[in-house]
This record gives sequence, C-alpha cells and structure tokens, in this order.
Amino acid sequence: MKADYYETLGVARGADEKELKSAFRKLAMQYHPDKNPGDEKAEHKFKEIGEAYETLKDPNKRAAYDRFGHAAFENGGMGGGGGGFGGAGGFADIFEDIFGEMMGGGRQRRSGGRERGADLRYNMEITLEEAYAGKTAQIRVPTSITCDECSGSGAKPGTSPVTCNTCGGSGRVRAAQGFFSIERTCPTCHGRGQTIKDPCTKCSGQGRITEERSLSVNIPAGIEDGTRIRLTGEGEAGVRGGPSGDLYIFLSLKPHEFFQRDGSDLYCKVPISMTTAALGGQFEVATLDGTQTRVKIPEGTQNAKQFRLKGKGMPVLRQPAMGDLYIQIAIETPQNLNKRQRELLEEFERVSSQDNSPQSSGFFARMKEFFEGLSE
Ligand SMILES: [Zn+2]
Ligand SMILES: [Zn+2]
Repeated sequence: MKADYYETLGVARGADEKELKSAFRKLAMQYHPDKNPGDEKAEHKFKEIGEAYETLKDPNKRAAYDRFGHAAFENGGMGGGGGGFGGAGGFADIFEDIFGEMMGGGRQRRSGGRERGADLRYNMEITLEEAYAGKTAQIRVPTSITCDECSGSGAKPGTSPVTCNTCGGSGRVRAAQGFFSIERTCPTCHGRGQTIKDPCTKCSGQGRITEERSLSVNIPAGIEDGTRIRLTGEGEAGVRGGPSGDLYIFLSLKPHEFFQRDGSDLYCKVPISMTTAALGGQFEVATLDGTQTRVKIPEGTQNAKQFRLKGKGMPVLRQPAMGDLYIQIAIETPQNLNKRQRELLEEFERVSSQDNSPQSSGFFARMKEFFEGLSE
C-alpha cells in the first residue's frame, strides 16, 4: 500500500508550490542517502519523498493524483507507475534541481561541461639514506595541462563556445512520457551545455594538452615505506577550465645491504668469528649519519646477542627524535680447517669442561633425564 503523497511530504492537500518545495527540501536533506549511508529505510523514504514531490509539483500530475490517487499512474498508461523517477538517475536530477551547486562534490560535472582532471599516481623509489636525510626530488610527470592557446575553452582564439541549441545550455534534455518528463544527458553537447564551432587547433577542442612537467617534491626525513604524498592540484588539468586533479607520490624504500628498518629503529646483522666471540674484541660499524661507531664485544658473547647504539637509527618523522641501531651478533663457525687448526681445536676440546659451555652440557643432561623419564 502506497503512502499518500501529501502525507509523505507532511503538507495539507491545499499546500501551494512554495510549501511543497520547502517541505520536500527539508525531508530530502534529512533522508538523503549521503547522510544515511547503508540505511535502507532512509533510502526508501527518500525515494518516496522524491516521488511525491515530483508528482505534486507538476500541476497536471497533481490534478490527476487529486482525482484518481495512485491509480492515475498505474497500469503503464502514464509512464509506468513512477518508473520515470524510480531510478537513481531520476533522483539525483530532482535533487540537483533544488539544491544545485550546494551539494558540490561529485556533481561538479554538470557546471558547463567543466570536468575535474584525473588524479595521477607517481611511483618513487628512494634509498634508506635518502629517507634518513630527507630530500627534494625533481620529478617529471607526463600530464595534461590547460591549453595556453585557447585558455582551456577549446574554442579557436577569437571565437568562443556557444550555448548548445539542443538543450539551451543545461546539458540535459527532457523527454515527455505521459505525465512524466524524463531527463537525459544532451546528445548534442554530451552534457557540456556548450558546443564549439571552431575548435582550437592546438588541443583539438579539448581545452588541454599533454605535456611533461617538472615538479619538485619534498621528501621529509624519516619517511616510511608505502607513504603517499599528495600534491593538491598537480594532477591532470580539468576539462574546459575545470579544477585540476591531485598528484599522488607513492613512496617505496629500496632494500638496504646492511640495515633493516623497523619504524625508526634499524637492525644490522654483524657476523663475528668464533674466537672473537669467545675472547672478546671490537669492530667498527658505519652508521647513516656518516660516522663510524666502535662496538665492543665482551668475552663469551653468545650468538644473536644484541647491542643497542642509542640514537643511531632513523629520524622520527617530523619530530626531533631518533630511533636506535641494534647490532645483532651472528657467530660464524670456522670452516675449511687445516691440519694444525684441527689439532688445536681437538686439544681445546680435550681440556674443556662443562663450565666452558654450560648451556649445551646442561641441555644434553636434561634431555637424557627427559628421555629416561619417558621409557620408565
Ligand atoms: Zn586549445
Ligand atoms: Zn546540449
């Protein structure tokens, strides 16, 4: 059962055009899908409101409705029972008639055929050193810019685009269908509202030309892999003087030979010999600030032991703080032993006690107990 159109809009049967419009406007704002995303009830209500208003604002339709009720529009005789505005397209149109530019955003396309330019993506790979120091990168972007010959109008200099005869400049044409009139994009000007008799020769009437542009991009110190930098208005030029799109720089970091990054911390795996690990020693590591730092290894250092070098990591983005550098020890077991070396190690083995390798001796002792416990 369909609700009464007057009730739907909350107006009296004698309401005049102004009252109808104001009631519709208020309700349409309240139930607009943009304001109630995913709410099917609101969407349904919004459609009902639109349908009621579309009917009552037209004196002919209103008269038919007053006389026959909903039956006036049923059984296909008069536009298929509201099918003319049942679709989403019909609704946007009604809404735009009333709200016009106010909604802005996604509906900019209709303002005299001026389209917003496309957003562009630019992939940039930088080194860890560059991410550490920050940099100003010069990039060349192929993009379309506003045609300087015609200043973006698309018309030959000295001429100007003329209002489209077919649609009178609205970019939309109405086709009558029973009581309803359905709006469509104008086939002559494709919605632009203007036609060009003498197209600009430089841009073939497009109002924009393709060119390579040089841009400088500021990469701040401490930037992370996968960051997007948006350069507002640096994308493609709009069509016929429309606003430009944006340019997005997608940053990725090249893998580094020595350093792995985790946020603002860096990790560096350092292989040391078995004897250095056992006897102690020291080595130098180069850090990203361009200096060398000495790392002292105490005797008896175990594999995977970490040493922290405070403040030797990456800068924290837009903060005066620095991460740390972690040195991870990887002990290298000797290989390719000659006879003499083998003898020395065998000798070492003979004179070793459990105290020299408490972990492994303890481990095998415990493992033996565990196994015996199982077999009892
Ligand atoms: Zn041009
Ligand atoms: Zn037209």
